[in-house]
Amino acid sequence: MDDRDLLDELVRVATRLGIQVRIEPFETPPARGGGRCLVEGREFILLDARAPLGDRVSALASALSDLDLDDVYVTPEARDRVEGARDARVRPREGVPLAPLTTMGVGGPARWYVEAHDEATVLAALRWAEGRGLPLRVLGGGSNLVVADAGVDALVLRVALRGLAVREAGSVVELTAAAAEPWDDVVRFAVERGWAGLECLSGIPGLVGATPIQNVGAYGQEVSDTVAAVRALDRATRTVVTLPPAACGFGYRDSAFKSRTPDRHVILGVTYRLRPGGAPSVRYAELERHLAARGIATPALMDVRESVLAVRRAKSMVFDSADPNRRSCGSFFVNPVVSAVEAERIASAAGDPGMPRWPEPGGERVKLAAAWLVERAGFARGHGDGPAGISTRHTLAIVAREGARAADVVRVARRVRDGVLGRFGVRLHPEPVFWGFARVEDGLPEA
Ligand SMILES: Cc1cc2nc3c(=O)[nH]c(=O)nc-3n(C[C@H](O)[C@H](O)[C@H](O)COP(=O)(O)OP(=O)(O)OC[C@H]3O[C@@H](n4cnc5c(N)ncnc54)[C@H](O)[C@@H]3O)c2cc1C
Repeated sequence: MDDRDLLDELVRVATRLGIQVRIEPFETPPARGGGRCLVEGREFILLDARAPLGDRVSALASALSDLDLDDVYVTPEARDRVEGARDARVRPREGVPLAPLTTMGVGGPARWYVEAHDEATVLAALRWAEGRGLPLRVLGGGSNLVVADAGVDALVLRVALRGLAVREAGSVVELTAAAAEPWDDVVRFAVERGWAGLECLSGIPGLVGATPIQNVGAYGQEVSDTVAAVRALDRATRTVVTLPPAACGFGYRDSAFKSRTPDRHVILGVTYRLRPGGAPSVRYAELERHLAARGIATPALMDVRESVLAVRRAKSMVFDSADPNRRSCGSFFVNPVVSAVEAERIASAAGDPGMPRWPEPGGERVKLAAAWLVERAGFARGHGDGPAGISTRHTLAIVAREGARAADVVRVARRVRDGVLGRFGVRLHPEPVFWGFARVEDGLPEA
């Protein structure tokens, strides 16, 4: 098939998809010989009639490479050309070390690795992985991730979409952030403008796209309090969807993205609904004490942000490249939620009626402090087990020290979990995600 026939065939494919191709001598030619565009709500593919025939074929194949061709008839030659254009958009690198891209800093390479700076490349990467029968793993800031020493047999996609947009909607402001915006920059942006809702979430490492995954939370706030919409690529339908909060299945350190339909969505951006001039949220005694020590009785949003950052820094809970406890995933275990009866049993097993506990909404269940259980099970801060151990400043953080491997981190985690299980009969569940481990049992890989 020569280029003329190929062009005609690709035009027919576009028509089968309901998209009209306009080949015209445009006064202002479209970039790169042509592409998709919307005119008065209708989708067209524009091609520059003055461009050489080969360029027009390439531009049309590239425009079609964003689309799903599974349900339309396409000749093998035309399909090859479109797939070639798709592959040209995604140029993954092979054997890229992942340890430097995670805060834990352990683990082996990604078999394939690619960064996507636009949504079309996200989709193209998904198709690239599917075409080779490889799993696709999405990487944000790597702050809640432990990679196995053997690495990950997958295409690791780093979503690199940037940008912020603000929309005033009556008495609220909707702040939309693209997935790769650093989370704490977004919090600072909101706090500096006096928009309440995110201030207690200051200092959490990572990127926007991961915040809905485990419903990031701290000091009494969770992103689910403010998430108005999540824009995502639905991998099942290969379409971009905008999900309302009700579809996100948010729970304590949980969401539908994490547990109900894991790996189904690649998050492209999140909209947070904030309150201009709103009062800050101060619900934690530790935060209250810090503000009081600074002599602040009626804190502004920035006061709360500063206290949160200071309290977190003292526990190595902000990422600081000079901190010896820096290589962690933050809290390694989530706080267990048990029945009130079970909480009473644990308090009496500990011989401490003052065991910290917080009733959950509804009153039937009680949240316990995982850090307290870990300490009472005999694991003190600074506890070491080879090159991995417990942070010297935070009982719940497992840290990797010089020379640590993923297997060392996992061994400490298992020892801590088994210790708490043996002492109190409570099974702790890990918070980070594990990539590349052969067997994961109850959320934790085998050592
Ligand atoms: C020092 C420290 C303190 C921390 N404190 C807190 C805290 O107070 N509260 C809290 O909730 N967490 C905390 N964390 C955990 C972590 O920072 C958060 O979970 C954060 O949201 C992870 O973001 P990330 O971009 O680094 O995600 P990653 O670690 O890169 O990924 C985590 C998971 O999200 C998925 N993911 C990431 N981006 C996308 C995307 N765009 N689309 C689909 N899936 C995606 C990944 O596939 C993976 O499953 C802390 C971590 C550290 C190191």
